[in-house]
Amino acid sequence: MKAKTQLTGRVIFKGDPGYETARKNWDPHTDRFPKVFVFAKKTRDVANAIKWAREHKVPIRPRSGRHALETNLSQVNGGLVIDTSELKKITLNKKSNTAVVETGNRVGRIVDTLARQGYMAPFGDSPSVGIGGITPGGGIGPLQRTTGLISDNLLALEMVDAKGRIIRASKKRNSDLLWASRGGGGGNFGVYTKYKFKVRRAPVRATVFSITWPWEQFEEVVKAWQRWAPFTSTKLGSELSIGPKKGGNVSMLGVYLGCKKKALKFLQPILSVGTTTKRDIQSLPWLQATKFLLAPDPILPQKFSNQFSSGFGRRPFPDKAFKYMREFLEKAEGGTPAGFYFLNWGGAIRKIAPRATAFYWRDPQYYVEWNSSWVKPSHAAKNIALARNTRKKLQPFIVGSYINVPDQGIKCSGPVYYGKNFARLRRVKAKYDPQNVFNNPQSIPPAK
Ligand SMILES: Cc1cc2nc3c(=O)[nH]c(=O)nc-3n(C[C@H](O)[C@H](O)[C@H](O)COP(=O)(O)OP(=O)(O)OC[C@H]3O[C@@H](n4cnc5c(N)ncnc54)[C@H](O)[C@@H]3O)c2cc1C
Repeated sequence: MKAKTQLTGRVIFKGDPGYETARKNWDPHTDRFPKVFVFAKKTRDVANAIKWAREHKVPIRPRSGRHALETNLSQVNGGLVIDTSELKKITLNKKSNTAVVETGNRVGRIVDTLARQGYMAPFGDSPSVGIGGITPGGGIGPLQRTTGLISDNLLALEMVDAKGRIIRASKKRNSDLLWASRGGGGGNFGVYTKYKFKVRRAPVRATVFSITWPWEQFEEVVKAWQRWAPFTSTKLGSELSIGPKKGGNVSMLGVYLGCKKKALKFLQPILSVGTTTKRDIQSLPWLQATKFLLAPDPILPQKFSNQFSSGFGRRPFPDKAFKYMREFLEKAEGGTPAGFYFLNWGGAIRKIAPRATAFYWRDPQYYVEWNSSWVKPSHAAKNIALARNTRKKLQPFIVGSYINVPDQGIKCSGPVYYGKNFARLRRVKAKYDPQNVFNNPQSIPPAK
């Protein structure tokens, strides 16, 4: 093919000023040396970039919020990164209870914009995650038991396909693409430029809580949490984090969409466990409640690299799982954000059938992830091995894995991320990207 397309938008080639800044992802372990970055200013820039990449035979990576948790997802050596982060429009329609957001928005900006107008949409634990990447993978967080996943609220989308064509998907047209984009993961079908979400009136106030326990009590707390959190009020979302033995603690952050009195009643079973070292439980106006839950990312003295792995629990961990968890937490490097994280499942998530959207893992009781982290590149191998070996040990006690918190150590990963939806995802892939232009180490291969 003769090269004829010009790159448009803000274009940064290797060697240009701004290249190093463009290259910095949230996790330095995922930084690469692409040939060129295109920061799209409009959908047409995305289309031109795709055509240009195909004419020049360079690999493509879509990128929005730079929070990829594995390598070669939103950057690749010698490739073209199509970055949507400068597409930032948010339009709330109060009549239809919908919001159209361009995919360059970060979660915190959307939550804040909606909250100031009395609306809410689900979010995770960090304001800086990109809506571009979090949405197609699912989007889990403390409101999910009431609102469903972020992807459960996705009503329509705009995407640029491998030929540079602008495709729209909704229940009425290209409904298979909408189905696949609700859990199939970013980077598979094309570059998303707009999402239309269902939004809800926000409550006037909500009760938020932040509770901590000493690290030594983690086993007691996790055991109690696993028997309590999946079964408590579906208006209560709870994130439980356990840090490394060296310097870590146990902390629980969450929200109850109701008054403080009722929140205290629902929290009682977990508050009565161990000896809490901090109990901050407050009823706040909705906007303040979102700030409490989505505090600005901590300013860390240095950047940490991470190896994550994730899964879902269908029943409480047996003692053997706690043994492996303890071994991991004892080996994890101190002074880093390593540890375990649990989020309660159920409620609105379970009400949707596993095959109704591409997000398959609907029936577990909780989500679990763990990450090992490091600063010195020479510590990478041992930390990656620590997280991946822990997966092997915990495998009998978990199912599946979350595509937004991937682990490239998982072999034959399709059914692990997508369960019985994998075959259909491959067929949708064959329809929208038969030549597998949008690929990455664990992307969905087109059906033959
Ligand atoms: C600090 C932190 C906190 C997190 N917390 C949560 C949480 O609470 N809940 C949760 O569900 N997840 C969470 N995640 C995981 C997060 O959902 C994924 O890392 C997500 O893929 C990030 O999207 P992004 O746009 O920021 O990242 P990027 O690095 O820009 O992209 C990540 C992936 O999505 C693809 N992608 C990005 N934009 C587009 C687009 N416009 N079109 C097509 N594909 C695209 C990329 O190609 C890549 O494969 C967290 C991650 C981090 C680092």
